[in-house]
Amino acid sequence: MINFKNVSKMYPDGTPAVESLNFEINQGEFFVIIGPSGCGKTTTLKMINRLIPLSDGTITINGKDIKEYDVHELRWNIGYVLQQIALFPHMTIEENIMVVPEMKKWGREKMKNRVRELMEMAGLEPDTYLDRRPSELSGGQQQRVGVIRALAADPEIILMDEPFSALDPISREKLQDDMMELKRNLKKTTVFVTHDMQEALKLADRICIMKGGRVVQIGTPGELMNHPVNDFVEEFVGKKYRNPMFDIHLTEIMLPMNEKERSQASSIVVPISTSWKGILEFLSEYDQLIVEKNGEKIGLVNRQAVIHYFSTKLQDRGLANE
Ligand code: ADP
Repeated sequence: MINFKNVSKMYPDGTPAVESLNFEINQGEFFVIIGPSGCGKTTTLKMINRLIPLSDGTITINGKDIKEYDVHELRWNIGYVLQQIALFPHMTIEENIMVVPEMKKWGREKMKNRVRELMEMAGLEPDTYLDRRPSELSGGQQQRVGVIRALAADPEIILMDEPFSALDPISREKLQDDMMELKRNLKKTTVFVTHDMQEALKLADRICIMKGGRVVQIGTPGELMNHPVNDFVEEFVGKKYRNPMFDIHLTEIMLPMNEKERSQASSIVVPISTSWKGILEFLSEYDQLIVEKNGEKIGLVNRQAVIHYFSTKLQDRGLANE
């Protein structure tokens, strides 16, 4: 869908920002780019909607070189969310969200319905918020409006550059959960930049790890954890999340899940390869974990299940008092 072929970027002052990027982002995929500060994440993202011109190579979207697209049309079809979104202060929330649909000349009825639908999906009560001005919303709510605005005109692609990093941990987690919900419902091709591995593990279908302007490894969270190509990836993903005995442990305590549990707000998706240490750390923050294997959500683990598992093990070994 989005194809990078030998893409490089050298800034006019001679800084080589990215070099020889070659990868493909699939239709409907949630693709997370992660790496240390200055490794070229933002440059990579902004080249997709031509905010930054390429020095070399080609990027194609649906087989067509991005240079061949009319730049306005290209940007209208690519939603863009920044770390600190700038809503127009004098416009209402509804007017802010309708900017791009209006430019695309959508009918009034269609726009209004779409706005309400997205507001509800993103956890903002339309009747309460649509007529407010941005200053009457919290930072987290404004950021949520930014996500809705990016989705409003039904773009094929969404680019997100550290969209939640300026938020407090609670709003951040809530937005990540909403993002998972939107991901499930809308299945948009999303390119998401972050420096937070937990966020990447939670959201990504595939993660692209960059260093010094180059791609080090691309893979599903499980692939990166179990088959890191080098020490850098291993360090970056975190040894603590690896567990060579994974299949036995997690499947032993996993519970089946129903639709309601699948969409529960306070759960995080973890690969089946997550270690015990990782599981316990996640469970100190989240009520339950959804376990994923080969991209499929196969069950859930909650605190009770873990406690039950350990108490049984202790009993088996005669270590429990009762
Ligand atoms: P990241 O998003 O991973 O932090 P960036 O893509 O912003 O990295 O930057 C990659 C490299 O390019 C860094 O060395 C950065 O200093 C440099 N860079 C970014 N923007 C410019 C610019 N406008 N002019 C010159 N160098 C830049």
